[in-house]
Amino acid sequence: MQAREWLARAKIPANPFAFLDDGAKKDVRRALLKAVAIPGYQVPYGSREMPLARGWGTGGIQITLSLLLPSDTVKVIDQGCDGSVNAVNIKKFYERVGDVRTTTDTREASLVQTRHRIPEEKMDEGQILVLQVPYPEALREVESSEAATRRMHAEADYARMWLHLYEDVVHYGEIRLAYRYPCTVNGRHVMDPSPIPRWDVPKLHMADTLFLFGAGRERRIYAVPPHTRVEPLEFEDHRFRVEDFSGRSCARCGATDSFLDEILGPNGARSFYCSDTGYCDKRRTGWTRS
Ligand SMILES: [Zn+2]
Repeated sequence: MQAREWLARAKIPANPFAFLDDGAKKDVRRALLKAVAIPGYQVPYGSREMPLARGWGTGGIQITLSLLLPSDTVKVIDQGCDGSVNAVNIKKFYERVGDVRTTTDTREASLVQTRHRIPEEKMDEGQILVLQVPYPEALREVESSEAATRRMHAEADYARMWLHLYEDVVHYGEIRLAYRYPCTVNGRHVMDPSPIPRWDVPKLHMADTLFLFGAGRERRIYAVPPHTRVEPLEFEDHRFRVEDFSGRSCARCGATDSFLDEILGPNGARSFYCSDTGYCDKRRTGWTRS
């Protein structure tokens, strides 16, 4: 037998659909249902081995794979960028194992998987946003014990988190958290919204879209269902605020309403570009936000 023939026989069959076996999908979906039923609550699940290392988006990938249908159109972004190596490879993986279409257009996608950003364009009730989460526990900054943080959530005891924020105000005159800004979900659980900038936090509040959060390494899934209150922790005299880009615009498309990345040129000149490359590309073609 020729080596090539033998290799072809040794190939893992294309089924089951979308890489995960039915048992794994069932486990993830069960966790998703519970997560949707208790917004902001971290549901433990049996995180499977993926064809990439934990910490590279395996939590988000497992959620996407367990939801994927052949009719889906998938968009994958990494820090807002459709073209980064990680985003492109995850997209290729879905094309291969799920036989789905991929896109860079937020409005065209039925499922968007992302790391560290929420797209600028408003998503609707027919769409799902899957976020890759490195650290699901919002209270980890103030408590290292998992047993203790779970008890704090159960008792809705967030005093130490408030104290942590208050200390920031005392030391620096403001809350300095730039990302992973803690939010109260549905008036109950304090949640880590993953390392999105503050700019993206208001997009979670009373949205039309279902947001699913997956932490593969930490084996946790949580969710923000549509039309759910997501309120950043703030004090009456020190309100939550988003990043200020006033007076700045994207050097590529001219946008003044998007989250901007600062790029330092070779001559030391600073310029700003949309972090959401799909949004930037669309604006370049003459499209405007309706
Ligand atoms: Zn732009």
